[in-house]
Amino acid sequence: MIKIKPVSPLEGKRYPLRERVYLIEILKGMGLTLKHLVRNLATYPTKNRTVVTIQYPEEKREYSPRFRGKHRLKKNPDGSMRCVACKLCVENCPSHCIFVEPDAYPDPSRGNYPKRYEIDITRCIFCGFCVEACPKDAIEMTEVSEMGDSVRAVFDRDFLLADGKEPAS
Ligand code: SF4
Ligand code: SF4
Repeated sequence: MIKIKPVSPLEGKRYPLRERVYLIEILKGMGLTLKHLVRNLATYPTKNRTVVTIQYPEEKREYSPRFRGKHRLKKNPDGSMRCVACKLCVENCPSHCIFVEPDAYPDPSRGNYPKRYEIDITRCIFCGFCVEACPKDAIEMTEVSEMGDSVRAVFDRDFLLADGKEPAS
Protein backbone atom coordinates (compact mmCIF):
# COMPACT_ATOMS: atom_id res chain seq x y z
CA MET A 1 0.00 0.00 0.00
CA ILE A 2 1.32 3.42 -0.94
CA LYS A 3 1.50 5.82 1.96
CA ILE A 4 0.77 9.45 1.08
CA LYS A 5 2.77 11.82 3.17
CA PRO A 6 0.87 14.97 4.20
CA VAL A 7 2.48 18.11 2.82
CA SER A 8 2.69 21.09 5.12
CA PRO A 9 3.41 24.57 3.75
CA LEU A 10 5.84 25.04 6.64
CA GLU A 11 7.60 21.77 6.00
CA GLY A 12 11.33 22.08 5.69
CA LYS A 13 11.26 25.74 6.63
CA ARG A 14 11.56 27.10 10.11
CA TYR A 15 9.83 30.44 10.37
CA PRO A 16 10.63 32.58 13.39
CA LEU A 17 7.98 32.53 16.12
CA ARG A 18 6.81 36.10 15.49
CA GLU A 19 6.02 35.18 11.88
CA ARG A 20 4.29 31.96 12.84
CA VAL A 21 1.84 33.78 15.12
CA TYR A 22 1.46 36.72 12.66
CA LEU A 23 2.54 39.10 15.40
CA ILE A 24 3.77 41.85 13.10
CA GLU A 25 0.66 41.65 10.91
CA ILE A 26 -1.64 41.87 13.94
CA LEU A 27 0.26 44.87 15.29
CA LYS A 28 0.22 46.54 11.87
CA GLY A 29 -3.54 46.05 11.58
CA MET A 30 -4.19 47.39 15.06
CA GLY A 31 -1.93 50.38 14.36
CA LEU A 32 -3.88 51.20 11.20
CA THR A 33 -7.22 50.92 12.99
CA LEU A 34 -5.94 53.16 15.79
CA LYS A 35 -4.65 55.73 13.28
CA HIS A 36 -8.06 55.97 11.61
CA LEU A 37 -9.86 56.10 14.95
CA VAL A 38 -7.74 58.98 16.25
CA ARG A 39 -7.95 60.89 12.98
CA ASN A 40 -11.72 60.51 12.70
CA LEU A 41 -12.30 61.45 16.31
CA ALA A 42 -10.13 64.54 15.87
CA THR A 43 -11.98 65.70 12.74
CA TYR A 44 -15.55 64.70 13.76
CA PRO A 45 -18.02 66.24 12.96
CA THR A 46 -16.30 68.61 10.54
CA LYS A 47 -16.52 68.17 6.81
CA ASN A 48 -12.77 67.43 6.68
CA ARG A 49 -13.20 63.98 8.07
CA THR A 50 -12.18 61.21 5.78
CA VAL A 51 -14.57 58.49 6.85
CA VAL A 52 -16.62 57.07 4.04
CA THR A 53 -19.34 55.77 6.32
CA ILE A 54 -22.31 57.92 7.33
CA GLN A 55 -24.39 57.97 10.48
CA TYR A 56 -27.58 56.57 8.93
CA PRO A 57 -30.46 57.26 9.53
CA GLU A 58 -29.53 60.64 11.05
CA GLU A 59 -27.40 61.35 8.00
CA LYS A 60 -28.67 60.59 4.53
CA ARG A 61 -26.54 60.09 1.48
CA GLU A 62 -27.34 62.24 -1.53
CA TYR A 63 -28.42 60.11 -4.45
CA SER A 64 -27.84 60.75 -8.11
CA PRO A 65 -30.80 62.36 -9.94
CA ARG A 66 -30.89 59.17 -11.99
CA PHE A 67 -31.52 57.04 -8.90
CA ARG A 68 -34.53 54.74 -9.24
CA GLY A 69 -36.41 54.35 -5.99
CA LYS A 70 -39.98 53.85 -4.93
CA HIS A 71 -42.58 53.95 -7.72
CA ARG A 72 -45.31 56.56 -7.92
CA LEU A 73 -48.38 56.79 -10.12
CA LYS A 74 -48.92 60.34 -11.36
CA LYS A 75 -52.15 62.30 -11.53
CA ASN A 76 -53.51 64.84 -14.00
CA PRO A 77 -53.89 68.45 -12.83
CA ASP A 78 -57.59 67.72 -12.17
CA GLY A 79 -56.62 64.90 -9.81
CA SER A 80 -57.60 62.04 -12.11
CA MET A 81 -55.26 59.15 -12.82
CA ARG A 82 -52.91 59.51 -15.77
CA CYS A 83 -52.70 55.77 -16.22
CA VAL A 84 -54.93 54.46 -18.98
CA ALA A 85 -54.34 50.78 -18.13
CA CYS A 86 -52.69 50.03 -21.48
CA LYS A 87 -50.46 47.40 -19.81
CA LEU A 88 -47.31 48.40 -21.68
CA CYS A 89 -45.51 48.52 -18.35
CA VAL A 90 -46.70 44.99 -17.67
CA GLU A 91 -45.41 43.75 -21.01
CA ASN A 92 -42.01 45.39 -20.52
CA CYS A 93 -41.41 44.40 -16.93
CA PRO A 94 -38.65 41.76 -16.94
CA SER A 95 -39.63 40.55 -13.48
CA HIS A 96 -43.31 40.11 -14.30
CA CYS A 97 -44.14 41.90 -11.10
CA ILE A 98 -46.79 44.37 -12.37
CA PHE A 99 -50.45 43.44 -12.52
CA VAL A 100 -53.00 45.76 -14.17
CA GLU A 101 -56.72 45.16 -14.45
CA PRO A 102 -58.32 47.71 -16.77
CA ASP A 103 -61.84 49.01 -16.52
CA ALA A 104 -63.77 51.60 -18.51
CA TYR A 105 -64.91 54.94 -17.14
CA PRO A 106 -68.71 55.36 -17.18
CA ASP A 107 -68.14 58.20 -19.65
CA PRO A 108 -66.81 56.37 -22.78
CA SER A 109 -64.92 59.49 -23.94
CA ARG A 110 -62.58 59.10 -20.98
CA GLY A 111 -61.36 55.62 -21.98
CA ASN A 112 -59.94 53.17 -19.46
CA TYR A 113 -58.45 53.38 -16.02
CA PRO A 114 -56.68 50.77 -13.86
CA LYS A 115 -59.24 49.18 -11.60
CA ARG A 116 -56.32 47.31 -10.09
CA TYR A 117 -52.69 48.30 -10.41
CA GLU A 118 -50.20 46.35 -8.35
CA ILE A 119 -46.43 46.05 -8.16
CA ASP A 120 -44.97 43.12 -6.23
CA ILE A 121 -42.03 45.06 -4.83
CA THR A 122 -40.29 41.92 -3.57
CA ARG A 123 -39.72 40.88 -7.18
CA CYS A 124 -38.97 44.31 -8.65
CA ILE A 125 -35.35 44.84 -9.74
CA PHE A 126 -35.75 48.64 -10.07
CA CYS A 127 -34.73 48.61 -13.73
CA GLY A 128 -37.07 51.45 -14.70
CA PHE A 129 -38.39 49.70 -17.81
CA CYS A 130 -41.98 50.34 -16.70
CA VAL A 131 -41.24 54.08 -16.62
CA GLU A 132 -39.59 53.98 -20.05
CA ALA A 133 -42.46 51.99 -21.56
CA CYS A 134 -45.30 54.18 -20.33
CA PRO A 135 -46.77 56.26 -23.19
CA LYS A 136 -48.65 58.52 -20.76
CA ASP A 137 -45.80 59.37 -18.39
CA ALA A 138 -48.07 57.96 -15.73
CA ILE A 139 -45.49 56.15 -13.61
CA GLU A 140 -42.21 57.41 -12.22
CA MET A 141 -39.56 56.24 -9.82
CA THR A 142 -38.86 58.65 -7.00
CA GLU A 143 -35.67 59.24 -5.01
CA VAL A 144 -37.16 57.43 -2.03
CA SER A 145 -35.01 54.43 -1.23
CA GLU A 146 -36.44 53.58 2.17
CA MET A 147 -39.21 51.06 2.00
CA GLY A 148 -38.78 49.36 5.34
CA ASP A 149 -41.49 51.55 6.88
CA SER A 150 -44.08 49.75 4.81
CA VAL A 151 -45.28 46.30 5.69
CA ARG A 152 -46.49 45.84 2.14
CA ALA A 153 -45.01 43.37 -0.29
CA VAL A 154 -47.43 44.61 -2.95
CA PHE A 155 -47.79 48.30 -3.74
CA ASP A 156 -51.37 48.75 -4.88
CA ARG A 157 -52.92 51.51 -6.95
CA ASP A 158 -54.01 53.78 -4.11
CA PHE A 159 -50.67 53.39 -2.33
CA LEU A 160 -48.82 54.30 -5.52
CA LEU A 161 -51.12 57.27 -6.14
CA ALA A 162 -50.55 58.50 -2.58
CA ASP A 163 -46.77 58.87 -3.10
CA GLY A 164 -46.09 55.59 -1.39
CA LYS A 165 -47.93 56.55 1.77
CA GLU A 166 -50.82 54.65 3.26
CA PRO A 167 -53.92 56.36 1.82
CA ALA A 168 -56.31 57.87 4.34
CA SER A 169 -59.21 55.46 4.89
S1 SF4 B 1 -38.70 48.80 -12.18
FE1 SF4 B 1 -38.40 47.09 -13.62
S2 SF4 B 1 -38.79 45.26 -12.42
FE2 SF4 B 1 -39.62 46.98 -11.24
S3 SF4 B 1 -41.76 47.11 -11.81
FE3 SF4 B 1 -40.66 48.47 -13.19
S4 SF4 B 1 -40.16 47.22 -14.99
FE4 SF4 B 1 -40.72 45.82 -13.34
S1 SF4 C 1 -48.59 52.99 -16.06
FE1 SF4 C 1 -48.39 53.66 -18.19
S2 SF4 C 1 -47.75 51.83 -19.30
FE2 SF4 C 1 -48.56 51.13 -17.33
S3 SF4 C 1 -50.70 50.67 -17.74
FE3 SF4 C 1 -50.61 52.78 -16.99
S4 SF4 C 1 -50.50 54.03 -18.86
FE4 SF4 C 1 -49.98 51.94 -19.45
